[in-house]
Amino acid sequence: MIAHLKKLIKENEKLNRYDINIEELENNVIKLSGKVDSWGDVVDFGHLAASLDQVKGVINELYTAESIKKNMKKKVKINLEKDKLIKKTDVLIVGAGITGSAIARELAKYDLDITVIEKNSDIAEGTTKANNGMVHSGYAATPGSLKAELNVKGNAKYDKWSKELKFDFDRTGSFVVGFDEDDRAHIQEYYEKGKKNGVPGIEILTGDKAREIEENLSEDVKSALWTPSAGYVAPYEVAIALAENAVENGVDILLDTELIAVDNAADKINIAYTNQGRIECSYLINAAGVYADQVAEMAGDRQFTIHPRRGTLIIFDKEKAKVLKSAVGTTPSKHTKGGVAQRTPEGNPLWGPTAVEVADKTNTAVSQEDLDTIINKFTTIVGGIDKKDMITSFSGVRAANYKEDFVIEASEKIKGLIQAAAIQSPGLASSPAIAEKIVNILLNEEKKLKLLGRKIKKKNNFQAERVVNKPFHQCSNHEKEKLLAEDQAYGHVICRCENVTEAEIVSAIHGKIPARTVDAIKRRTRAGMGRCQAGFCGPRVVKILARELGIDSEKITKKGEGSNIVNYRIKELLFD
Ligand SMILES: Cc1cc2nc3c(=O)[nH]c(=O)nc-3n(C[C@H](O)[C@H](O)[C@H](O)COP(=O)(O)OP(=O)(O)OC[C@H]3O[C@@H](n4cnc5c(N)ncnc54)[C@H](O)[C@@H]3O)c2cc1C
Repeated sequence: MIAHLKKLIKENEKLNRYDINIEELENNVIKLSGKVDSWGDVVDFGHLAASLDQVKGVINELYTAESIKKNMKKKVKINLEKDKLIKKTDVLIVGAGITGSAIARELAKYDLDITVIEKNSDIAEGTTKANNGMVHSGYAATPGSLKAELNVKGNAKYDKWSKELKFDFDRTGSFVVGFDEDDRAHIQEYYEKGKKNGVPGIEILTGDKAREIEENLSEDVKSALWTPSAGYVAPYEVAIALAENAVENGVDILLDTELIAVDNAADKINIAYTNQGRIECSYLINAAGVYADQVAEMAGDRQFTIHPRRGTLIIFDKEKAKVLKSAVGTTPSKHTKGGVAQRTPEGNPLWGPTAVEVADKTNTAVSQEDLDTIINKFTTIVGGIDKKDMITSFSGVRAANYKEDFVIEASEKIKGLIQAAAIQSPGLASSPAIAEKIVNILLNEEKKLKLLGRKIKKKNNFQAERVVNKPFHQCSNHEKEKLLAEDQAYGHVICRCENVTEAEIVSAIHGKIPARTVDAIKRRTRAGMGRCQAGFCGPRVVKILARELGIDSEKITKKGEGSNIVNYRIKELLFD
């Protein structure tokens, strides 16, 4: 493999000036190390190594003068004797994004003790809160890849999930539109891939036919790929619904709890050390998003490197909800499906994302260049909306590995370690199928390894339906009167843009997975998600949080440690 890769490097005009170190590790893993000039070169080397069919994974430790400072490993201090035992559990899931939450809920169908740890202060604080929310149909993934298989399977399971877990899901269908012959060729390629992947109802339409479904499509659109099975959700809502239902079924979720080291003596998972103490466990499921390579390293079997790929999205005012019914995408750039103009389930148009390789996993900045790229691209495709309708923008970071496919497998080296890693797009769409696959892997591993030493049975009291209250503003007058008679706080509207009442905010604070930050309240109730972006309700939410949690408002944060909102007190917050 090394000789083959060296040949590829020699032939590569951009990379052949470097003399980097290449090692072949067990299991067909290639490790790259050395210094290069730019982050782009780091990523290109990784992809070049991964382009060899025999290579299973690429560990890329190339660095630039910039990146070495940013990605230095944390020094961890563990006191094996003193670290307090938090709990003993059968299965420890690391990460409470969509992947970890879906796995927790699926595993909760079995008689297992399950614990999820999440380093952030809420569910979905990683990439899961910052994506398009598209339940992709599955035309874009390479046939034969895990992405292709699990995307199509996962998509099909969303109706059941939405019914049981009570989150909004609109199966609107999606387009990839084409303006010229080049685009038409891409569309044909997608069509063939989609057919191979088993995407239901996929077809190529003329521009006119497409405009019959989506009337605001530009007259310049000449052809379009149509996949009626695509849909969209609010991704954080799905993750919270899964996590809450997991809790309803006995799963323990520990927030603000970061995995920092793993005892894998005798090549098996024994103890997970966290910043809160130690957890003894038989299985460790790595669902750590962009940090999955670091968790794999801690657990003793890293066969891949995650290279963060940032994507920026723009959200527009709900007033423009009627501009589009379905999702409209463009033909691709090198590593994305090209972005889409779509709507959130609440009706906000959502455009993007871009795709920018970044060295730093925490780089969720929004650049003017990204915003311009999105606006310029989509205003040529969809009419009736422009810059001034924008209400906010944000970025998320994709957990890409160099093979550009999910890593879902049991470790052959460390017993009890199971990877749900490199879950980049379409991770959200695939999550129901990823969770099922992980559960099957765990059941098979237990049959083989007997780490728990007992037969894992399905529970007969699994509660599939999540218990959740309807938003007050969606209640009938009769329902509203009933709620008001129970609690006057339903009569006090805190977020005027989204019509969220004080009672709903209080209920979120004391919910199944308590919302203890301003962003957690936002994700559960939508307070702060409207046109004014919390200009009105922000301080009121801080005040309610402080009152309900019995702490000073200076201690209330936007999203956990270090994000305090009130610096110091000048006078009381006087409004009610
Ligand atoms: C811009 C953008 C648009 C996208 N659009 C779509 C789309 O439309 N459809 C789609 O299907 N997919 C989409 N994706 C991909 C999708 O967002 C991801 O596949 C998905 O959110 C991954 O979820 P996850 O749970 O694996 O990772 P995350 O949501 O990142 O969760 C991992 C969690 O692990 C926690 N963690 C990490 N390390 C530790 C540790 N040491 N201890 C404890 N906890 C830890 C993190 O804090 C984090 O909360 C998009 C991605 C981006 C960036």
